[in-house]
Amino acid sequence: MGQLKNRGIGLKDKLESGKTYYEIRLESIGGLGANLCGKMLGELGVKYLDVNSSNFSSYGSEKTGTPVKGFIRYCKKEKELREHSPVVEPDLLVVFHQALLKDVSIWKGCGEETAVIIALEPGQEQPEITGCNYDACYGLEAQKIAMETHSRINVVMLGAVLKIMGIENLSVGEQICKDTLGKKYPDALKANLEGMKRGYEEVRRLEKKAEQKQKDNQFQGKELHKANATEHKSLKQSDWGYANAPLGGVNPNFGSTVVADLSPSRQGYIPLFIQERCINCGLCYSACPDMVFQFAKGEYKGREMMVNQGLDYYHCKGCLRCVDVCPVNALVRGVEAEHPKKEYFMPNQELLRMPEYYEEAGPDGYITSESYLTEKRMEGGEV
Ligand code: SF4
Ligand code: SF4
Repeated sequence: MGQLKNRGIGLKDKLESGKTYYEIRLESIGGLGANLCGKMLGELGVKYLDVNSSNFSSYGSEKTGTPVKGFIRYCKKEKELREHSPVVEPDLLVVFHQALLKDVSIWKGCGEETAVIIALEPGQEQPEITGCNYDACYGLEAQKIAMETHSRINVVMLGAVLKIMGIENLSVGEQICKDTLGKKYPDALKANLEGMKRGYEEVRRLEKKAEQKQKDNQFQGKELHKANATEHKSLKQSDWGYANAPLGGVNPNFGSTVVADLSPSRQGYIPLFIQERCINCGLCYSACPDMVFQFAKGEYKGREMMVNQGLDYYHCKGCLRCVDVCPVNALVRGVEAEHPKKEYFMPNQELLRMPEYYEEAGPDGYITSESYLTEKRMEGGEV
């Protein structure tokens, strides 16, 4: 990993080169733990790195399944940190899930000076990225590491962030994990420390392939440039007024709704349904926070009743509450990668008639204030 050193992209390098702030933006999906990761990074600065720091996150009314952004800002300790606005031009952009790569707006404000870390799929060598000038782009198989160490993606990504920030002594990362997770989840501390260590050790530089370079050059000159320019302008000044603000502040974009794709929130596990065992008690339906279980009129033991037909995995967040409550083990935990064709997959019948059903709405379904920016671009005809 010697190649990561002396590239001038770390925290110290940037602050010593005269930059006022070193800024990180986490692009994530509710449920992956980016909020906690951001908090730990913020606390780390003040407690162990001898700098001033601040952090906050932005997410919608229901966190799980919707886009989440985390913002962390560091400056030299002689300076008071009074800036609490979102990070517009990050020094380090951290992408917690592949699904987010489909949304070009995650790259806003990124330039040649931005380093990027991407959570790769298990076994993936190179992600398909368009619209990112990613010379300093790094990746790691975060989900795989989290599953193998029984930790969570957020601590694995924390380890990777520390590496790219140029933190040479991982003990500060261990200390912040002990301070935070040791109190909150003492039983999981050992696993989380292992996950963080592997994240730190396994993050690697991604090399851009020739065809990707060509694609990026084309893209860079057109849509991304425009999108960035519009986003910058919108983030730096408020253009909303009586003529163009959404009516009543209502956000018509999809968020965590019945039509949202919640699959990106899953962390490698899914519930598997063994219909032969099911006694149709409906406990899973009550426990599930989303519209996953599809019950329809049918027959069970000679009686007409509502029968569990299967799961609509489109809405499943992978929380596995249903596995916990099922009294007859008709729902069991499975590794998602081993079940690409899910038995008993049952599309939500009530939603099939809706034209937008199965649109890729999840990661684009902003319900934070930033959704207005997306709308504005579309309505203004600028993209
Ligand atoms: S909790 Fe288990 S047994 Fe009851 S309906 Fe759901 S899957 Fe069937
Ligand atoms: S894991 Fe079970 S309870 Fe959780 S969202 Fe999926 S189906 Fe619902």
